[in-house]
Amino acid sequence: MPRKKVMAANWKMNKNPNQTGDFFRDFLPMVAGHTRDEIVVCPPYIDLYVAIEAARGSNVAIGAQDLYWEKEGAYTGEICPSMLLDIGCTHVIIGHSERRQYFGETDDMVNFKLKAALEAGLTPIVCVGEVLEEREANLTEDVLRRQCLRAFHAISSKKAPKLVVAYEPVWAIGTGKTATPQLAAEAHVLIRGEAAKAFGEEFSNKLRILYGGSVKPENVKALMAEEEIDGALVGGASLDPKSFAAIVKY
Ligand code: PEP
Repeated sequence: MPRKKVMAANWKMNKNPNQTGDFFRDFLPMVAGHTRDEIVVCPPYIDLYVAIEAARGSNVAIGAQDLYWEKEGAYTGEICPSMLLDIGCTHVIIGHSERRQYFGETDDMVNFKLKAALEAGLTPIVCVGEVLEEREANLTEDVLRRQCLRAFHAISSKKAPKLVVAYEPVWAIGTGKTATPQLAAEAHVLIRGEAAKAFGEEFSNKLRILYGGSVKPENVKALMAEEEIDGALVGGASLDPKSFAAIVKY
């Protein structure tokens, strides 16, 4: 059975609640009735309430961009899985390269966050990908293997069915450079292989692996034509409703 694609928006640190309301007012009619793909929008925490209210009853799911693994307590500034669930989030991005690069997020932290998200019943979108120096030094395979191995550590396939992975070559994020569909597909095959080792062949055949890195209305069709690519995680081009709707409906 073909895997249903996930078209996910990562707004990063953009838009306030008013702008979030404006986005959904314009975006929802553009994608109304679109059932071919799953549509997910991940705004900053402060916009989640407005996004969830706006998208209620629609075909658009709302996700957060991060979470903390503890259930509650003295963790100033953090948000736990049950808070996201209570407010109506269904998805959460974990281990985005910007969190790894700028906020010291390690493979182990990604693993803790993934476990907590799965335990809570959220759909995690776990990001993996190599930086430019790693690609140039022929280390892409090693990096992806390590990131997957550590992210999936000690998680049973029974707990993991909602898992979604995003391959995001860091050199392609926000740079306008896109991996060729073939290059992305090669990385996806490797990631699927790691998922097979961790969770079994049957699981890995069903696993959705998204591509992220300068996806735009102009290049999305070619990327989605690759059998290995099960959707997109979109940064910059998801901020404009028309542009993200065009990507969703490639
Ligand atoms: C991202 O940050 O997840 C991303 C893919 O960004 P962009 O589309 O802007 O490259």
